[in-house]
Amino acid sequence: MIAAMDISIRKAERSKLQDLNQDNIPFGKYFSDHMLEADYENGEWKNIEIKPYQPLLMDPSLAALHYGQAIFEGIKAYKGIDGKPYIFRPHDNFKRFNISAERMQMPQVPEELFMEGMRKLVELDQNWIPSKEDHSLYIRPFMFSSDPLIGVRPSDTYKFLIILSPSGPYYSAPMRIYVEEKYVRAVTGGVGYAKAAGNYGAAMYATAQAKLKGYDQVLWTDPFEHKYVQEIGTMNVFFIIGNKAVTPDLSQGTILGGVTRMSSMTVLKDMGFTVEERPISVDELMDAYKAGLLHEVFGTGTAATISMIKELRYKDFVMQFDVENWKTAPGLKKRLTDIRERRAEDKYNWMLKV
Ligand SMILES: *Cc1c(COP(=O)(O)O)cnc(C)c1O
Repeated sequence: MIAAMDISIRKAERSKLQDLNQDNIPFGKYFSDHMLEADYENGEWKNIEIKPYQPLLMDPSLAALHYGQAIFEGIKAYKGIDGKPYIFRPHDNFKRFNISAERMQMPQVPEELFMEGMRKLVELDQNWIPSKEDHSLYIRPFMFSSDPLIGVRPSDTYKFLIILSPSGPYYSAPMRIYVEEKYVRAVTGGVGYAKAAGNYGAAMYATAQAKLKGYDQVLWTDPFEHKYVQEIGTMNVFFIIGNKAVTPDLSQGTILGGVTRMSSMTVLKDMGFTVEERPISVDELMDAYKAGLLHEVFGTGTAATISMIKELRYKDFVMQFDVENWKTAPGLKKRLTDIRERRAEDKYNWMLKV
């Protein structure tokens, strides 16, 4: 690929891989032997290095900790049945990363730093990709402002890093969802479409409240009327209504446009569904449910891939689903997994060979 950018590699003396219990890998808890780190100073990216995974040394006045100029991405690498490592659609995450960077007044990360840095890192730590079904290596690129200055202004310096975390199945049990009508995740003109760190901190209180009521997650609604649905927690949402697959459109800028969402729309079309991106109201969902037409509800995202929803509660109205007999969500998940683990033809060229 592009060789203009100099990425130095300093290897760990000892691998921690033998300490990992491959039968129980909680999401996001363990990290591979190496990480990539780069500094943005005086308008350019420098000190680009792949080195042993290690803590960062930071000043207490570090700007990101105070004002939240921080963004991230989530990508997965898989081991194909050929035993080789592949990354799922990383270029789409690269593009989204720079969209988030622009919205947060942060510098663009050059394609070769993001893509070639990630490729080299995954290549070096490829033994960390678990080979069991539904397992993968989660790739977490992120950037934060690093000026040691507590004045409120965009930082002059930034850090870009990539870390890798082996992961087992995530959110695998069907979920009970509370339709949120008090708190909001994102508003028109806000930062909902960006993978900005603050969005997640801001969502935790409402999610905890829903958990106290016995729910796993919230279904976010629009900020004006709490009438139109946005996303489930940190996943995009799909509804199978009759023979259509329907998902909220992105025109309000309040929804994070997922790579899994995009991929699911493509695969659902292949499965024979008419796919619609449009506003969806809770009233429409309740009417479809009462008419026996709301067949399936599921979330899509890199971490979980597809998460089935067994219950949706709106005020006192409870919609329950017989997930055991579903065909679409499990079928979609299998098709995506088969492409990722290379059991099925990759006809859209989604897999990047490391
Ligand atoms: C990351 C994320 C998603 C899913 O995006 P993918 O690219 O499919 O992983 C959906 N919603 C929110 C809020 C997210 O942060």
